[in-house]
Amino acid sequence: MGGTFDPIHYGHLVTAEGARSDFGLDTVVFVPAARPPHKEPRRILAAEHRLTMTTLAVDTNPYFSVSAMEVERRGPSYTIDTVREMQLCYPGREIYFITGADAVLEILTWKNVGELMEMCYFIAATRPGYQLENLQVKLASLPPGRLARIHSLVVPALAISSTDIRQRVREGRPIKYLLPEVVEDHIHREGLYRT
Ligand code: ATP
Ligand code: MG
Repeated sequence: MGGTFDPIHYGHLVTAEGARSDFGLDTVVFVPAARPPHKEPRRILAAEHRLTMTTLAVDTNPYFSVSAMEVERRGPSYTIDTVREMQLCYPGREIYFITGADAVLEILTWKNVGELMEMCYFIAATRPGYQLENLQVKLASLPPGRLARIHSLVVPALAISSTDIRQRVREGRPIKYLLPEVVEDHIHREGLYRT
């Protein structure tokens, strides 16, 4: 599961657990992005904090783990490089790239999309504001073979986003119950997102 995780929240965790259970995945690896090509303009919290928060958040789920592979790689984070590295870590295994339906709509703009779609499956999770039917319509331009690589996943509609959480911290409003308490504690202890 890729993302900025700035910070990780229950939307990410519910999605990952839903994908694991629905698709019978052996494990879910959370891969915080170092320099997401799509998010360049905004300032992103230091990778160390995002890695720490993600590690804290997945601790209670034996199927979940965190990888620093994108953070440790030089240059922008491209999914294709990550999937390649995953193939080396898990030889002979099928790889599913879990992402929100909003991100899947951007797939067509990603680096080496043709090759990428040969390498892994995609799980597109619904989040509020993104209808799965909408996704199917938008993806209809893909060749059928490629379309078959994209699976949909319905998760309970959690209107939680990292953007909203960051804004809440800035404004001194509660973030409790939007993300695991250990992550909330880390944010407050380290004084993250205050400015
Ligand atoms: P930001 O608001 O900073 O963009 P975000 O909440 O969208 O943060 P990301 O790290 O960008 O979090 O998300 C990683 C992946 O998780 C994306 O594919 C995104 O679509 C998905 N995702 C994020 N929030 C939810 C949610 N509430 N429900 C389902 N999927 C989600
Ligand atoms: Mg996002």
